Amino acid sequence: MAEQVFHPLPTVPDHPALEEHVLAAWEQEGTFERLREQNAGGPTFSFIDGPVTANKSLGVHTAWGRTLKDVFQRYKALRGFDQRYQNGFDCQGLWIEVGVERELGLNSKRDIEEYGLEAFARKCRDVVVWSSTELIGACKRLGKWMDWGNDYYTFSDTNIEYVWRMLKTVHERDWLYLGHRSTEWCPRCGTSISQHELAMSGVYQDRADPSLFVRFPLRDRPGESLVVWTTTPWTLPANVAAAVNPESEYGLRTNGEWVAVARYPDEELAERRLGADMVGWTYTGPFDELVDVGHRVIPWDEVSMDEGTGIVHIAPGCGGEDFELSQVHELPVIAPVDESGRFYPTFGWLKGMSTVEAADQIIGYLAGKGMLVESGLYEHRYPHCWRCDTPLIFRIADDWFISVRDLRQPMLDANATVRWTPEYMGKRMDDWLRNMGDWNISRRRYYGLPLPFYPCACGHLNVIGSREELEARATEGIEQLEELRRPWIDRVPIRCEACGEAVRRIAEVGDVWLDAGIVPFSTLGWQNPKWVPQGYATGAARGLTTADLPDHAYWEQWFPADWVSEMREQIRLWFYSQLFMSVVLTGRSPFRQVLGYEKMLDEQGREMHGSWGNMIDANDAFARMGADVMRWQYCAQPPDRNLLFGFGPADAIKRELLTLWNSVKFFVEYANIESFRPSWEALNLEGDLAPLDHWLVERTHAFVRDAEAGYESYLTVDVMRAYQVYVDDLSNWYIRRSRSRFWAGGDEAAFQTLWYAIVQMLRVMAPILPFVTDHLFRNLVLDGPGSVHLAGWPEVPDPDRALLDEIADVRRVVALAHQARATSGMKLRQPLRKLVVEGAPAAAGHADEIADEVNVKEIEFGAVEAELRVKPNLPVLGPRLGRELRAVQQALQSGEFEELPGGRFRAAGHELASDEVLVERLGREGFAVASADGATVALDTALDDELVLEGRVRDLIRQVNTMRKEQGLAVTDRIVLTVPSEVEPLLRWQDRIKNEVLAVEIRVDGDLAVERAG
Ligand SMILES: [Zn+2]
Ligand SMILES: [Zn+2]
Repeated sequence: MAEQVFHPLPTVPDHPALEEHVLAAWEQEGTFERLREQNAGGPTFSFIDGPVTANKSLGVHTAWGRTLKDVFQRYKALRGFDQRYQNGFDCQGLWIEVGVERELGLNSKRDIEEYGLEAFARKCRDVVVWSSTELIGACKRLGKWMDWGNDYYTFSDTNIEYVWRMLKTVHERDWLYLGHRSTEWCPRCGTSISQHELAMSGVYQDRADPSLFVRFPLRDRPGESLVVWTTTPWTLPANVAAAVNPESEYGLRTNGEWVAVARYPDEELAERRLGADMVGWTYTGPFDELVDVGHRVIPWDEVSMDEGTGIVHIAPGCGGEDFELSQVHELPVIAPVDESGRFYPTFGWLKGMSTVEAADQIIGYLAGKGMLVESGLYEHRYPHCWRCDTPLIFRIADDWFISVRDLRQPMLDANATVRWTPEYMGKRMDDWLRNMGDWNISRRRYYGLPLPFYPCACGHLNVIGSREELEARATEGIEQLEELRRPWIDRVPIRCEACGEAVRRIAEVGDVWLDAGIVPFSTLGWQNPKWVPQGYATGAARGLTTADLPDHAYWEQWFPADWVSEMREQIRLWFYSQLFMSVVLTGRSPFRQVLGYEKMLDEQGREMHGSWGNMIDANDAFARMGADVMRWQYCAQPPDRNLLFGFGPADAIKRELLTLWNSVKFFVEYANIESFRPSWEALNLEGDLAPLDHWLVERTHAFVRDAEAGYESYLTVDVMRAYQVYVDDLSNWYIRRSRSRFWAGGDEAAFQTLWYAIVQMLRVMAPILPFVTDHLFRNLVLDGPGSVHLAGWPEVPDPDRALLDEIADVRRVVALAHQARATSGMKLRQPLRKLVVEGAPAAAGHADEIADEVNVKEIEFGAVEAELRVKPNLPVLGPRLGRELRAVQQALQSGEFEELPGGRFRAAGHELASDEVLVERLGREGFAVASADGATVALDTALDDELVLEGRVRDLIRQVNTMRKEQGLAVTDRIVLTVPSEVEPLLRWQDRIKNEVLAVEIRVDGDLAVERAG
């Protein structure tokens, strides 16, 4: 037996087991550390990781983004870039709080306060500790290379101080204010929800709410009333006005009800008036006995004629626009419900009821008073709390805001400098920046960034910018300040800088997007005079990380980020909050390039939900599909479309990965037989190559270049597409056409070429499939860099595109010939006389190869006689042409079109691309025709006796070889073949038969039989 140069490969790889081995090797050999050493001092590529919320184990959703980040960091590392690999965790806010509340069975803010804020804070930190440990473990398993142990945690005191400093700057520029307005509110969480939080996925859900038409009797017009429509009955006790569109016409129905004419066009109307004429009318409110307030008709241009009655019920305490109208028209503002969404005691029989409980009661009450016209249910998209899923209400609240008035334009300018992939996401950011309101930064919660605002009774607002400043101005409590956090910080009053009195902090904490948005400053040491070892490991982060607080020079080196990547939802969240803070602090964007991506759904295209049983835990996916297969799913996905993730697609990918696996396995088997020993030096191919070898080398170079273009434009999908075509060329063209060169004796050039191609391909795919590529690389490269990840990016010359186009044409012709055969029902084993090829001139020099591949005797390059039928591809062409489509359709139908190169056509003045038309060619009698992208083949399907016999010979050979296998004969065993007498005419080809079935003798006698030769 020959020496085994390479480890033999099993038929099918066990991805999870293989990956565990590779992980162990990386760990043992310090592969990642060696990579970083190798690149230290090289050109820099600055990546900043968006923090992942530390309240869960790794889900396959999060693994998508984590993979993309890892892929591009690995690619940049192969290209020699020195990089930062700091991972980040988001550690504060409702995410963490709501989880802990559930765990402890707490149902309200009062419950939390009774439980104790100190104990609650420690519980929250426990969640972060547990989750970050889980996430680090799972990310390692995913193959993500990061500087684990030096992670940033947004609940670090250092991070908090950086936000404080930013807020102080905002205050100094006079952008900070306390607003009093009606805002979206979660009654369960007891806090307002900001505009950008409403942009989070899952916030808007379909929901059926009551639909009510209610009569408001007019005071000075007996027997007449206004009719309004509402889906929130609980807001009726807060009604103060009814709005009409001053420009629209209203009519009095015969039953005395006023409604908009446009809403009731067929109604008989006793009187008509413009809305403007109704302004000032007064009416009796539905709850006048509970709330003593006047009601009147006001004008409002925004009143829509698309739904309801065209008269809108206005309750400024329960709606954003209503509140704005109250400012314009000096309407009273009635706030009916408290923080937990329950009616205040002043609301009589409604006292203590939730908004939901009150709905039915109110409907019954109105019916009893004769004010209800009609009630039913109304299906609509309604916002829910992004954290606890409770339907939101509007409520009056005092919140802290940052004014965007002066920041909007600078932010738009900064965004204009950013390169977004996909491009439309940059446009979305622009739209958001144009339309965003002031940033509501305060939340009435506990486990979050303490807002450093100390409003004094003297009227002065004190804003603290650092811990140092807090210590200097504290009047007491500094000694017990464990962390810059509630409850400890609440026990530290400061001295007012205006009047000298002791003043307390407001109770509110900050929006979590403050924590995440400050990261490009807090982790890079912006304006920090001296490098502080472990200076980031402060407050709650102490003991969890050893991250340093770098100095300002470091910040100068790494800011702005060259690249960041997150899902589309983050446009209004992390991308926005970073941009916001960066524009405040430096006037420019904190990132140069962004890769965004759409949503992940299950393989049927449904949202993934824990309660639907279709959520996939990453650990489950690692065990059942392996990390490489997951990464393939993520990377094959165009970022502008939703990813349908699941085990079904994973199985398909596993099968597809076998093409690569089998190619390497083929090489290993024969190379072992021949004891072929490649050397890393030989990666520079020299010497005489066969034409097919030469082609594969050029093809490999083209693949390297195509993949490079994909990576450089941050589109893994382009890399994957290039890979899939390349592997098909390698396996189904090069290897299949070269098989015999690897047999008996072996052809050194063939081994050398195949080894070269595989090794270069592994290097290209290493960022996407880090495990299987390294596993195979370590097997195939005996004296090289030890890991594919240390091998750098392959340097290749420009490929010979002319040669590649030639073989691409050959493969195209072969594929068309197979297609024509399939339509004729003629199997490939049946030799045919002739194939006529039109429109693939580059293939002309390869007639023999084509003939061999498609099993015909002769290839003729010339015109194919066929009738051409062209139809529009409606789903593609329809949207582009619109009304013009009809003319094009007619021209095509009547044959009035011109054929252009590349499968294009011109008809009715329009140029049609090859994918915009469906082309059919009908061949002459006796010919099967196939056509695509400008090339056409016609297969002569006529059979003569000679061809029929030859076809039978091939059938026989196949049958005998199947029998050999069934009888368990070794591939080298010789046989004696017995054939029945009717097969005798085939024996004209007996040498060929003997040769292909390894027969030493053929006997004619009885049934077909195979017997090992003695
Ligand atoms: Zn909530
Ligand atoms: Zn004061």
